[in-house]
Amino acid sequence: MDAPPAGVTMLKQHLIDPEICIRCNTCEATCPIGAITHDANNYVVDPGKCNACMDCVAPCPTGAIDNWFVVATPFSLEEQFSWRELPPRPADPPSEAPDALDEEAAALIAAAHAGAEGRARPPASASKPRINLFNRASPARARVSGNYRITRSPGGTDVHHLVLDFGAVPFPVLEGQSIGVIPPGTDALGRPHAMRLYSVSSPRDGERPNTNNLALTVKRVAEPRPDGTILRGVASNWLCDLPVGAEIEVMGPFGATFLMPDDPETDIVMVCTGTGSAPFRGFTERRRRLRQWGRGRMYLFFGARTPEELPYFGPLQKVPGELLERHLVFSRVPGRPKQYVQDRMREEAATLGTLLGKPTTHLYVCGLKGLERGVEEALTDIAAQAGLDWPAIRSAMRAEGRYHVETY
Ligand SMILES: Cc1cc2nc3c(=O)[nH]c(=O)nc-3n(C[C@H](O)[C@H](O)[C@H](O)COP(=O)(O)OP(=O)(O)OC[C@H]3O[C@@H](n4cnc5c(N)ncnc54)[C@H](O)[C@@H]3O)c2cc1C
Ligand code: SF4
Ligand code: SF4
Repeated sequence: MDAPPAGVTMLKQHLIDPEICIRCNTCEATCPIGAITHDANNYVVDPGKCNACMDCVAPCPTGAIDNWFVVATPFSLEEQFSWRELPPRPADPPSEAPDALDEEAAALIAAAHAGAEGRARPPASASKPRINLFNRASPARARVSGNYRITRSPGGTDVHHLVLDFGAVPFPVLEGQSIGVIPPGTDALGRPHAMRLYSVSSPRDGERPNTNNLALTVKRVAEPRPDGTILRGVASNWLCDLPVGAEIEVMGPFGATFLMPDDPETDIVMVCTGTGSAPFRGFTERRRRLRQWGRGRMYLFFGARTPEELPYFGPLQKVPGELLERHLVFSRVPGRPKQYVQDRMREEAATLGTLLGKPTTHLYVCGLKGLERGVEEALTDIAAQAGLDWPAIRSAMRAEGRYHVETY
């Protein structure tokens, strides 16, 4: 968003979309401080009362309530009562920009998306995400209904598939979004732990269609330090050790740009290592479940040390080839040359070069920060072979919501 003129304080105003609202009164009944009222025409939010507690947002059955405009002068109640539709948005919608409501999560997302260089945009055909419904002060409660290891290497990388059940609480997510958790206890300075984000690895309608749950793909962080001790990640170890039946507090959903296109004609190229595969499991399951693939194909470049360390190796083999072109790449298989995702991408330069030239291709990179450099170099070479200029293509793709990086 552009900076406001000197001396002008911008504020975030909560508004209800009169075109979508079905006048069900749920929000007015929910608001703990009476900030929502209505006349014969509209439900409206009093800007002098609303404290953005978000209590009304999750229960709204239509999403009409989830509008936040950054304004210099708030719209009055009289103006809102007269509307048939929302006025034009003054700026980009609140998303992972640092001005988003949950600043802790927004900062984490902004850092993870820094590789997209500049303000990331959602795909044009993506569904509208719900964000910041639950926060530290008012989290959702979820029950662990599944927790099992999905890597098979004894003593090696330990990645868990967790299923969180939200019971009767609506927790709407889209593929590519993340949730936040705060591990119990305090940090070395005695403060509550910082929030950790985890990508949702299930499709929007749950692990099985129409279940109110979501899946996470969590890697247990346990790294040897130079002094011989082991660094055990606080949140990842806590999550991986949670027993089935445990109740945890969840924040979010977060992330408004790393989303999949809903248009089935689009091609989706996904590049990842390790837990970077989490959002792509959601993307793939979504398209598989729709059974309307259109002409759009999915291409997965997925790197791991060995097949045993590649999360979801078994289930991935069963995804139909006409939906997903799989490139599973291994760097530590005894007796075989080391191969990384960027090496396989170069081998597939003809296919990728064609895809980079298509205006319907969406490209996603997800995983540890170290992944970005090799992928960038490979894309530069692949584009050049196809007679294209990668920085120019990347800028255009980013501006059109077709280029996405999420690394941490
Ligand atoms: C948008 C976003 C999405 C994320 N999605 C996932 C996900 O789907 N699955 C997942 O496991 N993690 C994911 N993460 C990382 C996660 O939030 C935590 O940072 C990670 O689990 C480590 O937290 P911890 O408390 O266990 O480690 P800490 O106690 O915070 O220790 C930090 C140490 O862990 C290292 N570290 C952080 N992430 C990893 C990793 N994945 N592999 C190896 N070392 C790491 C750091 O470099 C550091 O040395 C995501 C992060 C972001 C910002
Ligand atoms: S809960 Fe949503 S749909 Fe119902 S009156 Fe409020 S804004 Fe409208
Ligand atoms: S965000 Fe909170 S204070 Fe504002 S209208 Fe909704 S329930 Fe009321």
